[in-house]
Amino acid sequence: MVRTLPGFKEAIIADYGYAVEYSFIHHTEITPALRLRRTENVFVAGQMCGTSGYEEAAAQGLLAGANAARAGKGEKLLIPLRSNSYLGVMIDDIVSKGTDEPYRLFSSRAENRLHLRQDNADRRLYEFGKSIGVLSERKSILLEGNINEAVKIEKVLDKSVIEGCQAALWCRRPGAEAERLVELIPELASFNKDIIFSIMLDEKYSGYIRRSLKRDESRRRASSVSLSSIPSYMEIKEICWEAREVLEIAKPQTLADAGRIPGIRPTDLEGLLLYLAGKRSTWNSSSKKGTER
Ligand SMILES: Cc1cc2nc3c(=O)[nH]c(=O)nc-3n(C[C@H](O)[C@H](O)[C@H](O)COP(=O)(O)OP(=O)(O)OC[C@H]3O[C@@H](n4cnc5c(N)ncnc54)[C@H](O)[C@@H]3O)c2cc1C
Repeated sequence: MVRTLPGFKEAIIADYGYAVEYSFIHHTEITPALRLRRTENVFVAGQMCGTSGYEEAAAQGLLAGANAARAGKGEKLLIPLRSNSYLGVMIDDIVSKGTDEPYRLFSSRAENRLHLRQDNADRRLYEFGKSIGVLSERKSILLEGNINEAVKIEKVLDKSVIEGCQAALWCRRPGAEAERLVELIPELASFNKDIIFSIMLDEKYSGYIRRSLKRDESRRRASSVSLSSIPSYMEIKEICWEAREVLEIAKPQTLADAGRIPGIRPTDLEGLLLYLAGKRSTWNSSSKKGTER
């Protein structure tokens, strides 16, 4: 192909400059705080986590660096939420699913992408940014001002009525625009137009966002079901053979982790719950027998 290019008819490739294969650390060795499981204080980011791309490496580097500093100070390590940031989506994908090929973060990987918008990034990530200590005092003051303004706009929309309908609900109508909203509610004229637009989008997508948050809630509940008491999946009759083999290799920490493994179906998750429930009742009855004796 190279020789078909003008001027390259005689070209000889001495060495390929771009290696598309590289070594990386297996995902089961990396915690969601980007610490290597077998160490106390080694944090990793970027290509060695199996990702490709400047942005992926930079975002992980930010978190790994912040968590390394927190570990040094004896502070709790931070984990970004999948429901609240693309960084959370990426890290959750890396540590729970792993990667067969260099991973790039697409917006389609996020279930909650109507919430993960550019216009609300300040409001979404202010608390997290503050907790990892990456916000300057000047930036903090600016963002707090924007967040207060957003709350005030929401209050105005809640109490105002447009064409016989609550203004917040009016924002959900097709064709509802920020300029028109400000014309209809002059009280909004003194507020920042970008923040008004952002709050309108919150309203417009509120149904989808609520549904998505509900799904997150059930996922979070599944996260609290620990699978650490399972010594081997190979003997669990409640799940299919393929699932046993996959789980035996992946050794997920929780039911939610198991659910994210490719090939694991909802029926396998139900099977795991049945197995755990059966085991618990066996423990209960044997401990009762123990006290009776
Ligand atoms: C030709 C090419 C083009 C690309 N184009 C794009 C693009 O257009 N857009 C995009 O998003 N991504 C692109 N990428 C991918 C992107 O460059 C990488 O995904 C990203 O740089 C990975 O960052 P990193 O910090 O994980 O690793 P690196 O950037 O590779 O950083 C690792 C660093 O560790 C150092 N190091 C290694 N071993 C040791 C050691 N033993 N001791 C001390 N230091 C060591 C290395 O010298 C290096 O500086 C491209 C990659 C290549 C090769």
